[in-house]
Amino acid sequence: LLGTLSSRLRSNIKKTDFIAHLGGDEFALMLRTSQRTLDLLPVAERLLKVVRQPLVVDGHNVSITASLGIACFPEHGNDAVGLMKRADLAMYHAKQRGRDQHLMFSRSLDEAFFNRTVIQKDLGNALSGGELRLVYQPQICLGANSFLRLEALLRWHHPVRGLISPAVFVPVAEESDLINQIGNWVLEEACRQARQFMDRNIQVVMSVNVSARQLRAGDFVQRVQQVLADTGLDPSQLELEVTETTLLDNMETRAESLQQLQELGVSIALDDFGSGFSSLNYLKNLPVDRLKIDQVFIQEIPHDEESKTITASVVKLAHELHLTVVAEGVETWDQLHFLQSVGCDYVQGFLLFRPLPPEEIGAVFASLASLRFDG
Ligand code: C2E
Ligand code: MG
Ligand code: MG
Repeated sequence: LLGTLSSRLRSNIKKTDFIAHLGGDEFALMLRTSQRTLDLLPVAERLLKVVRQPLVVDGHNVSITASLGIACFPEHGNDAVGLMKRADLAMYHAKQRGRDQHLMFSRSLDEAFFNRTVIQKDLGNALSGGELRLVYQPQICLGANSFLRLEALLRWHHPVRGLISPAVFVPVAEESDLINQIGNWVLEEACRQARQFMDRNIQVVMSVNVSARQLRAGDFVQRVQQVLADTGLDPSQLELEVTETTLLDNMETRAESLQQLQELGVSIALDDFGSGFSSLNYLKNLPVDRLKIDQVFIQEIPHDEESKTITASVVKLAHELHLTVVAEGVETWDQLHFLQSVGCDYVQGFLLFRPLPPEEIGAVFASLASLRFDG
């Protein structure tokens, strides 16, 4: 495969250009362009296309894609080491953006890289240093509320940099085993807190976000079971949120784990539905109880007709499959009323409640019966 690939690449560059196999599945190309960095982009397109063409290895058809990072002399560095590092960084980001694409280095990538290294370094201490907290965002039933559903959301209070969003540090944690340690802490803390609410007669169902790596760890189901036993929380009061991408790497095994969790009595929600591949096959084959419609659709309501149609159809489809539906990111009364009119079961968003510290949940629970949705 590497041999075929290198000859394909070689025949698509000029004789005066240079190609090297760096090791593993990485190649480096050194191209001379006459004037401008922009000249490189059509070349990059062409090379990606060449890589994409199917090939036969030992009688098997294989198709592969590449991610390509570009750095230019002298704009992005004036020595080989610096240029290679930046091309590598650009390639890393091209991969992150979904692979099979090229990306030119820019200063903002350097900053992202800096953030990543700082986060990686400090996140290890965050857990032991008590810098992580959970906040709880209510998910409000548009029918009658008896239990208060809460989603546990992670917050990192960095001693120097202040509050860091999970959207920034969770992906970094997911690159290493750190996500397992953090994920275990979240699970324990959320269950402990839920149990404490129950002891104060605040009836809750707690939703916890689960990462791919956590689910992949062989003992995840036992761990959940253990935490439930340790905290004395009833399994029916725990829900786990997974995304489609969490399940992608090994659908069958993941489905099995989810099934085992459901057998314990824990419910499963499919998070950010609609933002990924949203294969309808998942809905058919995966043991899930609830769908969470991604906020990108909700936030385009009411002005975007397509988002309205998609939202209404997802609600209908989910109900036919006996799933309940949560809309995420509800910020306006217009959105809420639209969701109500199409029969959506739950809404979650800044309009009704932001993620709250545990002290404020008692008051929310007390106000449930008097909640009105007429704006
Ligand atoms: P998510 O699970 O989809 O969580 C919903 C996100 O939407 C939260 O962001 C929440 O604060 C935000 N949100 C809620 N209502 C609104 C609204 O009306 N408008 C807008 N613009 N946003 C709203 P947050 O807390 O920053 O979390 C971001 C993501 O980080 C989460 O997305 C989840 O994927 C991840 N995450 C958070 N906590 C954990 C955790 O404990 N473990 C793991 N693995 N991931 C977590
Ligand atoms: Mg979630
Ligand atoms: Mg979500």
